[in-house]
Amino acid sequence: MWPFWRKPVGARRYLFGPVPSRRLGRSLGVDLTPLKTCTLNCVYCQLGHTPKTTMERRDYVPIADVLRELKEWKRSKGIADVITLAGSGEPTLHLHFGQVLKFVREELCLPSVLLTNGTLLHLDDVCRQAVLADVVKVTLSAWDEDSFAALHRPHSSVSFRQLMDGAMKFRAVFGGTFWVEVFLVEGINTSEEALRAIRDCLVPLHPDKIHLNTAVRPAAENGVAAVGEGMLRHALGVMGPLAEITASVPREPSGDGKTLSEVELFGLIERHPCSVEDLASVFGLAHSRVIEELEPLLRQQRIIPVERNGIVYYALPVLEK
Ligand code: SF4
Repeated sequence: MWPFWRKPVGARRYLFGPVPSRRLGRSLGVDLTPLKTCTLNCVYCQLGHTPKTTMERRDYVPIADVLRELKEWKRSKGIADVITLAGSGEPTLHLHFGQVLKFVREELCLPSVLLTNGTLLHLDDVCRQAVLADVVKVTLSAWDEDSFAALHRPHSSVSFRQLMDGAMKFRAVFGGTFWVEVFLVEGINTSEEALRAIRDCLVPLHPDKIHLNTAVRPAAENGVAAVGEGMLRHALGVMGPLAEITASVPREPSGDGKTLSEVELFGLIERHPCSVEDLASVFGLAHSRVIEELEPLLRQQRIIPVERNGIVYYALPVLEK
């Protein structure tokens, strides 16, 4: 028995957002897997539990349909600063994710970003396709097999050693921008020794930036707590000058009388539960307008509020299979 998010009818199937990002600007998401298809089952995952971790690479969604949606998005004069492969699972599990990266570069003339957990980078084919991205961000929040298992609860054939080997192999051939995300979870990787050990793992990868993140959104495990600002600042000091704390920056709402697009809203919160502030930023609306638009959807229970660290996020209802 596991919770799954209801698919909104009529929403774009593979695109979501754009999601505002301090580093990337407006990031249009491309989702190449059904919820939730992943090699890992991270305790902090905002998508909930992975029902069954997998290493099987296949055509989870038809690439031709994804490219068609991207073409339609371009035709409808969609605006984004980057196109990001992310969403309902690990994008490199898709056999042909590189075709999307190629299309983004050649047809959309936009930079592409690949967000990956890095567990498949040791595979030649994955490595060959991943180098087509302009920016690759890999998660590296552990420092040995035990910490890796505690944080990520991986598929039985995934190991920390393999992750490191794959990341090293990829880094040696990748000429684009390489970022590493360190996801901090209180009680697992926040001790001084843990932070130093993670930093030592990062050094040979020569990241262009180290992004420090924490569980600000609802996580797979109830007990997973976001670390405080003090810990983030402490980690910043340990990680050195390449490190920065990642956080979304709200844009000024336009308040120009626009309304919330239900289709876009459902497509977004299905993969990325959002606060009123997030939604105001994504849709360029005043906070009061967002609240007004959410109210009937809440009443009809088509969306649900989920409280996390004093902030309310809106998500699609969780159903039981
Ligand atoms: S956080 Fe990413 S890598 Fe971890 S389980 Fe969720 S989708 Fe997979």
